[in-house]
Amino acid sequence: MAEQEASGLQVLLHTLQSSSDKKSILTILKVLGDLLSVGTDRRIHYMISKGGSEALLQTLVDTARTASPDYDILLPLFRLLAKVGLRDKKIGRKALELEALDVTLILARKNLSHGQNLLHCLWALRVFASSVSMGAMLGINGAMELLFKVITPYTQKRTQTIRAATEVLAVLLKSKSNGRRAVNRGYVTSLLWLHQDWHSRDTANTYVQIRRGLLLCLKHISALRSGREAFLAAQGMEILFSTTQNCLDDKSMEPVISVVLQILRQCYPKSPLPLVTASSAYAFPVPGHIATEPPCDLPEEDLEDDGDDEVDKDSDTEDGKVEDDDLETDVNKLTSKPGLDRPEEELMQYEAMCLELSYSFEELESKPGGDLNSEKTQYANHHHILTAASSKQHCYNKDQSSCGQEREDSVRSSLLCMVKTQRSTVHLGSKRKPGVNPYQNVQSNSLGRDSSGSEIPDIQASLKADAWDIDAIFCPRMSASFSNSTRTGEAVEVIDKLLQTHLKCVPFHDPYLYMAKARRTSSVVDFKMVAFPDVWGHCPPSTTQPMLERKCGVQRIRIFEDIRRLIQPSDVINKVVFSLDEPWPLQDNASNCLQFFSKFESGNLRKAIQVREFEYDLLVNVDVNSTQHQQWFYFKVSGMQAAVPYHFNIINCEKPNSQFNYGMQPTLYSVKEALLGRPTWIRTGYEICYYKNHYRQSTTAAGGASGKCYYTLTFAVTFPHNEDVCYLAYHYPYTYTALMTHLDILEKSVNLKEVYFRQDVLCQTLGGNPCPLVTITAMPESNSDEHLEQFRHRPYQVITARVHPGESNASWVMKGTLEFLVSSDPVARLLRENFIFKIIPMLNPDGVINGNHRCSLSGEDLNRQWLSPSAHLQPTIYHAKGLLYHLSSIGRSPVVFCDFHGHSQKKNVFLYGCSIKETLWQAACTVGTSTILEDVNYRTLPKILDKLAPAFTMSSCSFLVEKSRASTARVVVWREMGVSRSYTMESSYCGCNQGPYQGLQFGTRELEEMGAMFCLGLLILELKSASCSHQLLARAATLLSAEEEALDQHLQRKYIKRVIKVLKMRTSWKGTLFFSCPWTSEIQVLQALNSETYTLSLPGLSSLWSWTENYTISFFSSQAFGLFLSPVTGFPGSLPCRQPVMRHLSLQNHGSQFP
Ligand SMILES: [Zn+2]
Repeated sequence: MAEQEASGLQVLLHTLQSSSDKKSILTILKVLGDLLSVGTDRRIHYMISKGGSEALLQTLVDTARTASPDYDILLPLFRLLAKVGLRDKKIGRKALELEALDVTLILARKNLSHGQNLLHCLWALRVFASSVSMGAMLGINGAMELLFKVITPYTQKRTQTIRAATEVLAVLLKSKSNGRRAVNRGYVTSLLWLHQDWHSRDTANTYVQIRRGLLLCLKHISALRSGREAFLAAQGMEILFSTTQNCLDDKSMEPVISVVLQILRQCYPKSPLPLVTASSAYAFPVPGHIATEPPCDLPEEDLEDDGDDEVDKDSDTEDGKVEDDDLETDVNKLTSKPGLDRPEEELMQYEAMCLELSYSFEELESKPGGDLNSEKTQYANHHHILTAASSKQHCYNKDQSSCGQEREDSVRSSLLCMVKTQRSTVHLGSKRKPGVNPYQNVQSNSLGRDSSGSEIPDIQASLKADAWDIDAIFCPRMSASFSNSTRTGEAVEVIDKLLQTHLKCVPFHDPYLYMAKARRTSSVVDFKMVAFPDVWGHCPPSTTQPMLERKCGVQRIRIFEDIRRLIQPSDVINKVVFSLDEPWPLQDNASNCLQFFSKFESGNLRKAIQVREFEYDLLVNVDVNSTQHQQWFYFKVSGMQAAVPYHFNIINCEKPNSQFNYGMQPTLYSVKEALLGRPTWIRTGYEICYYKNHYRQSTTAAGGASGKCYYTLTFAVTFPHNEDVCYLAYHYPYTYTALMTHLDILEKSVNLKEVYFRQDVLCQTLGGNPCPLVTITAMPESNSDEHLEQFRHRPYQVITARVHPGESNASWVMKGTLEFLVSSDPVARLLRENFIFKIIPMLNPDGVINGNHRCSLSGEDLNRQWLSPSAHLQPTIYHAKGLLYHLSSIGRSPVVFCDFHGHSQKKNVFLYGCSIKETLWQAACTVGTSTILEDVNYRTLPKILDKLAPAFTMSSCSFLVEKSRASTARVVVWREMGVSRSYTMESSYCGCNQGPYQGLQFGTRELEEMGAMFCLGLLILELKSASCSHQLLARAATLLSAEEEALDQHLQRKYIKRVIKVLKMRTSWKGTLFFSCPWTSEIQVLQALNSETYTLSLPGLSSLWSWTENYTISFFSSQAFGLFLSPVTGFPGSLPCRQPVMRHLSLQNHGSQFP
């Protein structure tokens, strides 16, 4: 059949070329036309493969070269060529070789006054010119001049032909030589004039496509530097800007406006950032290190042009896919384990950080039984994870009595109550009220309200003076305080006074302790001030804030505003109101502009420029000893008017896209609100967008590389109070001092009888700050040999965070983990009794302190230094790795290693892990993966978290090993320490697009909850492991059963419920059995054959694996749990493997302890 068709088509094409008979040619053209008018593109491609294009072109040339060309033949021929040419990438070259290019151009010239014939010629020319070199050829032969004869000022006649001519011209102008020719002949001015003419006279917008065609011509010309110059000289910016101002909201004008914007952005003169130097405002002399990049001035010239089309980021596409060519496909690299990066003797030093392995606990005997410390027990009995009830918690203020009332009704509940539930505490109500001042939401519920509402007016009255005081909180470091000790006293006085008046206890926070700790924090420029929110503390709001719905066209409006500055420069104030590079202060308080400040821990505003009355351009400092990595921001702003929208543009952002385009808002803290009893960071801002601006790094500053682009984050804020002091940040700040304060409070809060909590110093940082290492486990029951043995043999879990200073979300997750682990929650107790947690909560203290986004003081990304860290330059990484080496060398590698991070491009929380097989599969690597043995247990924890944690999603997890990540903690710990469950946990800066938190932005509560859920995940991981002790299983069973009732009401996913039923079955041997299997939907017991054998059907498996048969699974007594919940080694999970490896499962009897 296919053979016949082929020969039929070939005969037709052959006849077409050889025939001179008009009738038969027309017939064949008709047949071909009919053939191609139905069916798919495949027919056209088939025809092309059989020489169809050549046959048509040859016929065209033959027909056209006769004395009087026959247009009866030529017109259908052109139509066919236009159709086939669209699919034939080589049509231009074929047309050139067969001389059809010339012929068509000649025909077009001859038919200038004959509309129909001309239109057909233009259609053909449009496809011939689609390759740039053919376009150039046509340009040489005078095609552009010809087209300009066709393109006329506004008319209602021959508009189809005019449209085709503008489109052909636009295609021709993609060629640079044509572009230059156009510039030289003054076409830019002509095109602008034509644009104005059509624009002003086509009032009904009938010929939008012609207008778009003209603009596309301008767009292609302005891809050239000379084109942009000509465009600017011809007042192109002004013309396009003014012609489009009256039709921005007109939907029918969309095709025109989008091209106008592209041209305006492309032609906007590139300029360097308004900074004296590309280097950081702060420099740190790395000891023994030759000075890093010298500060270099920004020259005016040599700015790189980029002609790329910036897509309007109004569209809702987010990316973040791993490039396949970044995958590690070298099997040797994937499977080999490198040796130590240091002498073995060096590992001895880490014994001192693992005192739990040698300590004898002699004091335990001296205090047998009884209450060890009732006061501390009281603290530890509180539930540490933030539920609505638990915000009534500890207070560590001097005056604790004021918290007593709240403490009474403190409810002891468990983490399990919150497992992936559709919790009533998620307030969707606020979703329906966009535009409402978020503080009004906070105010409208009882959380932040002072105990007596009548006091509020008094507080209001005193606010102004207080806010002024707070503005002046000094916090000199200890060394400084010797010479000027009164300042310290003053600061404490201010805090004292404020606390007495406006006390609001923040759980696990203490302003006095914070002030004391801040004095010991070393910063590069020796910060003298502390930021109010960090001292005062933060209580999460009771409502979770929805993502901001993005209004269409926000970006467009902002870009037009940028262009307006260029066109109407007299409207721009351009006054520098804050700068780290100028002697401080720049501002006089009398002027009515905002005041800015950022010289405090984690603060990093470098410069603020007032551009309009209520609009400011802001520049953030780059990382210390670096010329890049600006994304994080944290600064103070004061002197505002309430109810006025202020626009802020952070103009030197670096990442090419941001969640700010997809619903994320920055965070705001109002001092007045805090003093009114609402010390809360909230998400704020509207008219938010993030886009590439006209600033470029000079190539000199970039060290000869092509100068990079900058991006603007723009947002509007309406402040809640007049004359307030507010803080704005990229994300909820969490300083190093906050961590040190938190750790001390945690240490004081633990019940020493139950909790073993030890703080060590992992090492000193370059900046001279101690990097804490925390050890948490349960105290041994006694110092008997048996108890000490159990104590010392608990497996390790290692968790680290905040290697990237701008990822403060990681610290909030870590805060949740730490508070949960020391809490009295029964799950936490089980975890402590079964594991030793080694936690490095902040791997990059110096970066956090100095307001860096990515690096340490040596200007390096510490998460790219794990392969061979230097003790001198990257001490925290060197010793973190050393500690892991040590654990590995004594056979105690952690069960799980996890490094907490923040993710700026994606939503939700997810894990990155490491798998050889998945990497090779993904890279479509042909190496026989079947010979590689790999346990799939790396997938178990993320699957568990997917079921447990509301914010977590398995779907974003990835287990690929990328070459570019070879030196990250995750890959190095996996490869060098052999930890198969080595992860990076990424938390979105934004929020969730799935699960119970779908559509909501993260608050600190959700992040902390994630930290706690991660711990619960570790427990369930252990319950599912083959080595899980019976004692733990039994205790978990009791614990989980106790929770069942509460869970019944809440559970959205029924995972835990089923775990409980399994556990119940284990102890009672009766009941309906439902099991959940983490890699399928569910496994149901159909029939109990006898007490030991069950027939199971596996509906989840059947859909996934075509595994439809019923399986008899025999088990004796206790191992049902192990069967369904332990990771079955070798089970394919959801890997792309179609063959189930286990056909029959049989487990041994270990259940003698059960009835
Ligand atoms: Zn990170």
